Amino acid sequence: MEHQVQRLRRAFRSGRSRPLQFRVQQLEALRRMVQERERDILAAIAADLCKSEFNAYSQEVISILGEIDNVLQKLPEWVAPKPAEKNLLTMLDEAYVHSEPLGVVLIIGAWNYPFVLAIQPLIGAIAAGNAVIIKPSELSMNTAELLAKLLPQYLDQDLYVVINGGVKETTELLKQRFDHILYTGSTAVGKIIMEAAAKHLTPVTLELGGKSPCYVDKDCDLDVACRRITWGKFMNCGQTCIAPDYILCEPSLQSQIVQKIKENLKEFYGENVKESPDYERIINPRHFKRVLSLLEGQKIAYGGENDEATRYIAPTILTDVDPEAKVMQEEIFGPILPIVPVKNVDEAIQFVNEREKPLAFYIFSHNNKLIKRVIDETSSGGVTGNDVIMHFTLSSLPFGGVGSSGMGAYHGKHSFDTFSHRRACLIKSLKGEGANKLRYPPNSQSKVDWAKFFILKPVNKGKLGLLLLTLLGVVAAALVKKYQAVLKRKALLVFLVVHRLRWSSKQ
Ligand code: NAD
Repeated sequence: MEHQVQRLRRAFRSGRSRPLQFRVQQLEALRRMVQERERDILAAIAADLCKSEFNAYSQEVISILGEIDNVLQKLPEWVAPKPAEKNLLTMLDEAYVHSEPLGVVLIIGAWNYPFVLAIQPLIGAIAAGNAVIIKPSELSMNTAELLAKLLPQYLDQDLYVVINGGVKETTELLKQRFDHILYTGSTAVGKIIMEAAAKHLTPVTLELGGKSPCYVDKDCDLDVACRRITWGKFMNCGQTCIAPDYILCEPSLQSQIVQKIKENLKEFYGENVKESPDYERIINPRHFKRVLSLLEGQKIAYGGENDEATRYIAPTILTDVDPEAKVMQEEIFGPILPIVPVKNVDEAIQFVNEREKPLAFYIFSHNNKLIKRVIDETSSGGVTGNDVIMHFTLSSLPFGGVGSSGMGAYHGKHSFDTFSHRRACLIKSLKGEGANKLRYPPNSQSKVDWAKFFILKPVNKGKLGLLLLTLLGVVAAALVKKYQAVLKRKALLVFLVVHRLRWSSKQ
């Protein structure tokens, strides 16, 4: 591992990954890889998650192609230095923010969307000019192995490397020094990652999970709300980090919601869900047992059927769920939808605020004021009003968690920023030393007064300004006469003072 990281660091130090043209060329190669090897990618995802080609394409491939196109179009603008606002003391200088690559970054992916969760951060890391190690999840082995095979065929082999393995290999990898780590996975492992990163003072982006609530208001189009919730909850067999984890609603809505979701399930997956090509399976036997154990002691309003041999769990709805029940203590990450009755929106807000900050929050209502109020009075990584999942799809929005659902964000420009250091650059002239005397020792009250004059907000307006201007004219005239030799330097000072006065009279 140490050897690998050193190899990448050497390649990074060669400066090869920095030019815009190189980044563009690598991103184009990545796009070519996705297009040319689409069939292999879809087959690997299908083998890992029993996902149909249509689902794999629309859930994992389209977003990657869209992200690459977006980055290629905007990258020239992102890499360009951004001029910074100047003050009086720097107005003749060059001040700008330069986004520079961080160095060698580590991306650790999760299994539930094994392609997109490894490649989407990679796009941002390449765009920002870094060298990258990707550690895909060992639970989605087929996609992990395919990535290790494909990437070296398309990308620079000394700058972008896939390392496969489980906990042992990841632990070993984490002993190395990286310049940034982006981790996607559980909150528990997120703490391990952060602890390992702290030893090297490595900054982290943690894309974690949690229980994302969904509040359904009684003033709402229940047909539309339930159709959207059914789609987002049971997609990928409930194994989506931003799937609605549970519903909060007034008790009277429960039976209607169950009925409508049942109808939607039939519409989406047919009479026999098990036979539907659109319904996935639980990733492995351990998760199968974990998800089923959440049903113990619960009132099953719909579903509950399962088959251990194929790791199938039917879409399942629970009603009148006790907030203290096991299913409400951990992220479900499976096709179980508990409904927890609350008296009203106030109780829903209180319910959410008493728990860890979720990754996503969904609110359904005709009343936009109510949606805004819930947004204002709660906290979560992201929010979608009157739909689920969709804030994830808009790359202008930062995607990430808050509190125990994570830290930092990515997607689009946010990925570029995550993998860049915003370097403060000020280039001064070697001339104008006269004005600089103000800051050199020995210090004095008059120097402090001049410094206040230049730096602080307007001291006085109007008359004082005019008075100072007159005084300045007199001083300038005297200086011109007496110190011809230093005229140039003083002229600069005068110029600065005049600008300062103009500026203060404008305030
Ligand atoms: P996982 O088991 O695939 O683990 C994720 C990564 O962590 C893997 O690469 C794995 O090798 C590594 N890992 C596991 N244990 C480790 C350890 N002890 N030390 C070092 N590395 C270790 O995935 P998971 O944790 O089961 O993922 C599910 C969780 O991820 C859910 O909570 C879900 O909400 C969350 N998630 C979040 C996002 C997001 O974008 N915020 C996306 C997908 C999943």
